[in-house]
Amino acid sequence: PKDGLSPPWYPTPKGGTDEKWKESYRKAAELVKQMTLVEKVNITTGTGWSMEMCVGNTSPVPRLKFPSLCLQDGPLGLRFADNITAFPAGITVGATWNKDLMYKRGRAHGKEARLKGINVLLGPAMGPLGRMPAGGRTWEGFGPDPVLQGIAAAQTIKGIQDEGVMATAKHYLLNEQEHFRQAWEWGPPNAISSNIDDRTTHEIYAWPFAESVRAGVASIMCSYNQVNNSYACQNSKLLNGILKDELGFQGFVQSDWLAQRSGVASSLAGLDMTMPGDGLKWADGKSLWGAQLTKAVLNGSIPMERLNDMATRVVAAWYQVGQDDTEKWPLQPPDGDGGPNFSSWTDEEIGLLHPGSTDKTTGVVNKFINVQGEGDDFHGNLVRQVAAEGTVLVKNDDNLLPLVRNGWKEEEKVGKVTKYRVGVFGEDSRVNQDGINACKDRGCNVGTLASGWGSGAVDYPYLTEPLWALRQAFNNESVYVVDFPSNKLPKDKTLIEEQDICIVFANADAGEGYMSFETTHGDRNDLYLQKGSDMLVKGVAKSCGAGHGKVIVVIHTVGPVILENWIDEPTVKAVLIANLPGQESGNSLVDVLFGHINPSGRLPYTIAKKEDDYGPGSKILYYPNGLVPQQNFSEGLYIDYRYFDKKDIAPRYEFGYGLSYTTFHLTSLLVTSHGPKTPLPAPRPSGIEPPTYSTDIPDPKTALFPPGFRKLSKYIYPYLSSTDGIKHPEIQTNMLQSPLSEAGGAQGGNPDLYSKILTVSASVTNIGLVDGDCVVQLYIAFPQNYKDPETGQPVDFPVRVLRGFEKVHVEAGKQGPVPGVKGSPHGGGGNSKMVVFEVTRKDLSYWDVRRQNWVMPTEGEFGIQVGFSSRNLPLQDKW
Ligand code: BGC
Ligand code: BGC
Repeated sequence: PKDGLSPPWYPTPKGGTDEKWKESYRKAAELVKQMTLVEKVNITTGTGWSMEMCVGNTSPVPRLKFPSLCLQDGPLGLRFADNITAFPAGITVGATWNKDLMYKRGRAHGKEARLKGINVLLGPAMGPLGRMPAGGRTWEGFGPDPVLQGIAAAQTIKGIQDEGVMATAKHYLLNEQEHFRQAWEWGPPNAISSNIDDRTTHEIYAWPFAESVRAGVASIMCSYNQVNNSYACQNSKLLNGILKDELGFQGFVQSDWLAQRSGVASSLAGLDMTMPGDGLKWADGKSLWGAQLTKAVLNGSIPMERLNDMATRVVAAWYQVGQDDTEKWPLQPPDGDGGPNFSSWTDEEIGLLHPGSTDKTTGVVNKFINVQGEGDDFHGNLVRQVAAEGTVLVKNDDNLLPLVRNGWKEEEKVGKVTKYRVGVFGEDSRVNQDGINACKDRGCNVGTLASGWGSGAVDYPYLTEPLWALRQAFNNESVYVVDFPSNKLPKDKTLIEEQDICIVFANADAGEGYMSFETTHGDRNDLYLQKGSDMLVKGVAKSCGAGHGKVIVVIHTVGPVILENWIDEPTVKAVLIANLPGQESGNSLVDVLFGHINPSGRLPYTIAKKEDDYGPGSKILYYPNGLVPQQNFSEGLYIDYRYFDKKDIAPRYEFGYGLSYTTFHLTSLLVTSHGPKTPLPAPRPSGIEPPTYSTDIPDPKTALFPPGFRKLSKYIYPYLSSTDGIKHPEIQTNMLQSPLSEAGGAQGGNPDLYSKILTVSASVTNIGLVDGDCVVQLYIAFPQNYKDPETGQPVDFPVRVLRGFEKVHVEAGKQGPVPGVKGSPHGGGGNSKMVVFEVTRKDLSYWDVRRQNWVMPTEGEFGIQVGFSSRNLPLQDKW
């Protein structure tokens, strides 16, 4: 396909072609074969906004014991639910670079969902990926690099699904900004179109979705926006072509809430489930599917085959995670036949069963089940660990940190008689005084920031306040802590001047586009600290200790912030980017500040010196440039560090950067190749046969409302009121088969793309005094000045791309210095650990638009670079 186009791709590939889903499809087909037309429609269509307990609900098929599915937000915890955990946001998880923690967080999250009776979790988010650092929802995902994002997403999905809950990879695809994401929400009658070329789609934005499919994700949510001027939920190239054919996705595609814009077209393009069921408007009960889908099948607009596949995909996904296994999935009250034990719509025990309708039936809707875990399994402990590991220490002059409980460090104590004085500054040091959940969906930036806002936020069960935690951490016999929890500088300057240490809190917030806070409408307006924080930090830095104080800046943020207003002030000794820590904010911060844990977070994004350094493509489109706002992704592959490297721009802190309280040293790079370079993967394997069904169209009368049926207002049903005007089609819809992709053949694509081509290993030694975790990063530099050997055309590559990372714990050495290593004077000796990276064919290939396949350059040399950040790569080799 040509760049910027949405070529047709039909018909929808059927699910059930992958060996790993064989048994689930066998069982699903058995069930779906017994379903009537309306029953099939019923499980593909939501019941309407707020008609049942969850943000999304499908109807059951009671006759066959197939339940109503509860779909609930979101990526960092259970929205609209009680007694749950507010986990750190995706961006914080990305900053841990810790695969094990990514999995554990997913698992704990999945377990909470299961115990609340949720079938489908609406997370993780991996789109927006973060093309625009000011993008309102980038914090829901793991950072603007496809490999980091993809690994974190896959680990999260495995964790969630190992608990028997279906995960949802969202938002597919290119919903990079909030402005104009939906029709009408922002004024224009159409959603924005993200216009992109085929290569960038594959190498950047679809990559984490490929990893999610490879991890076996049960569901994918298509996004609000258009892609190349075709709505993402009816873009056949994206859904039928890339997702279901090329990436071999076996689960079901659900629409984002009201992202479905057509009935027949979306089904034919590959949409399998519409959410929340309502059509073009919220809560109007007029579905584009439901009865309309029934009709479309009866009159032949949508082939029976397609509906069979839609239903089978939903049922197969349910089997795939084991939800038919009632031992694993204990039936939940209140119905006694499964379902959620909480209501999204009220906090009371008794409430309306169908709040969106006029029906007044009530029942027990909240059972207040505590799912936070207990003892060693208390999820708050995990939150604390993730948040601490997701805190990035970017500056630590004179080794100011870690702090000590008694204030003075041993060597500083001499001659001091007075108490040690610590001043804590900034509104962000204290919780919102109106209550931690005062603003709906966390839609305001008041008090300490621990989450962004929108459907990706949850109610905090509690929130440990940074100020409180600091007061606990210092010994109050020797340290005098005063607080100024406001962004205004104290009028009396001596209050700042008399502090030995000043800890300043600052933040930047953003969120989903259906809410605004002050002038922030979803997306941030700029990349500076908000609410006057820059002035505060600057003022404190000028006066702290009358010029001799030491300033620590703590930043809670949804994404990159510009630090240049004060970063070079001589008193600013330490800076921590604490991202969005979740409910254990204060405790996790103290863990890092006091060295209870050695900081090991690394930036999951680049921090620039100025906004323009991110490039023209990084700018939000704040004003519509037409009835269909157009946004061209002209920078192609060059986002975040790829742009800085390409343009040779010095960032303030580069992608992958972060400090530790110890020092690591890398040696012994070894690159082993498992065979010669070959341009193309092995031919696509054929896969297994999907289930087949009778394609006969049933008698329309079977779709009529059953006699005596009690309808609820605005509730969405699959039934017809009359069969008038429905004609049996004379010919069946016949679609030409689009050619199958050579890059396909299994979940995540052609399995040969994941064959190991190289093994790279290195040894990391801790040459400092304390134990610590080191994130070792592998980058690949594709051959420069490369020309496609067939066409002679030059192919441009980023300077380097991340292809792997490992976090390892290395103890400080006790034995003697490391031979030949400068900077190991402490007698530190050195304990070492080996890190090993497996590099796949896909890692070494680019998407060739002409050949429509992943191609490995066979001319020239790859650079193999191992190090501590995208710009600190001490070990280099060639292949
Ligand atoms: C958001 C989704 C969310 C859904 C349900 C939409 O507006 O974009 O991320 O899952 O609402 O709340
Ligand atoms: C709902 C969210 C949804 C949003 C979309 C809100 O009213 O609470 O779930 O994501 O609308 O616009």
